[in-house]
Amino acid sequence: MDGTYGDSTRSVKAVGIEAVPGSPVAPMPVPASTFHLSPDETEQLDSYGRTSNPSWRQLETALAELEGAAAALTFGSGMAAITSVLRVLAKPGSTLLVPADGYYQVRRYAAEYLAAQGVTVIEAHAAEMCEAASAADVVLAETPANPGLDVVDLHRLAMTCRRRGATLVVDNTTATPLGQQPLSLGADLVVASATKSLSGHSDLVAGYVAGSQPDLMAAVERDRLLAGPILGAFEAWLVLRSLGSAGLRFERQCQNARALAVMLRSHPAVVSVRYPGLPDDPAHELAAAQMKRFGGLVAVELADAGAVHALVEHSELLIASTSFGGIHTSVDRRARWGDPVPPGFARISAGIEDTDDLLGDVEAALSAAADS
Ligand SMILES: *Cc1c(COP(=O)(O)O)cnc(C)c1O
Repeated sequence: MDGTYGDSTRSVKAVGIEAVPGSPVAPMPVPASTFHLSPDETEQLDSYGRTSNPSWRQLETALAELEGAAAALTFGSGMAAITSVLRVLAKPGSTLLVPADGYYQVRRYAAEYLAAQGVTVIEAHAAEMCEAASAADVVLAETPANPGLDVVDLHRLAMTCRRRGATLVVDNTTATPLGQQPLSLGADLVVASATKSLSGHSDLVAGYVAGSQPDLMAAVERDRLLAGPILGAFEAWLVLRSLGSAGLRFERQCQNARALAVMLRSHPAVVSVRYPGLPDDPAHELAAAQMKRFGGLVAVELADAGAVHALVEHSELLIASTSFGGIHTSVDRRARWGDPVPPGFARISAGIEDTDDLLGDVEAALSAAADS
């Protein structure tokens, strides 16, 4: 039934709680660390706050619904979710493939922690993911890749992994489940940061794992129990509260990103633009085949670092901040964090401002910055 609904309807319905007359329409956070125990010592749903929590469960049900998964598990951050999955899957002696052009701290975790545990870590760019996967036991793919926005052919990658018996994990942070559903394309697990567009207000850090294989999900849940990288109940509640408007916000973010990409491409101060929604983008054909929406991120290259700073200084709407997916349009010069990109490369995260206001502001700021 839910498959027939649009994404805003699905977002709103995902937040729904049982319609009992007199009960609150809005979810409530349950911040308890411990729960009353039954005298007969039978197993009960909640007993201790590191094991389970009613606020997680509501959020997990909503996230599973949006990802098209049987189940989801919440974590204290996107990295907590990703590293839990990697600890479960990447055993000593195995080979792990991670994106060379994806989120940089995943490569660091693999190099600094997993390699030291006897895991062979290999890297590949989005375009070479399928070839490289034929040598791996565990594959972590990210698409569109943050920050370069190249796209990985998920169906083809899933087929390669299946032939080899490798496990495919897809980081769905940049696309969000409203932009693509990796599980339906053959991924074994989805990992993501809910810090970005899903929560969307730049006011919390959270992550999740989604999947439909009971054994895999049970192993990840056990790692969460033992390692303890859990989400606070208030954050779980805030993410759930935000999910109701995720469809609406993401729609505007995608619209603003596309409009910005089109304008930037023809501006003389811009060296290059990547947005998978542009018909002539190298990733467009693939993106159009596997994505429902092309996302709120635009990758742009200006002349140098000074040009990126001048753009923000001359704008009334842009803010300089890292991370992405919030209501404000933000600019992040990625070389400052060590991403392998040119000094003038910036990742723009489209906010939910009126499209015409944003376009006018950014265009004027670019021109003023170029004249200054
Ligand atoms: C932000 C991000 C992460 C990490 O998420 P946190 O919530 O910051 O821990 C992982 N993958 C991608 C693609 C990201 O953008």
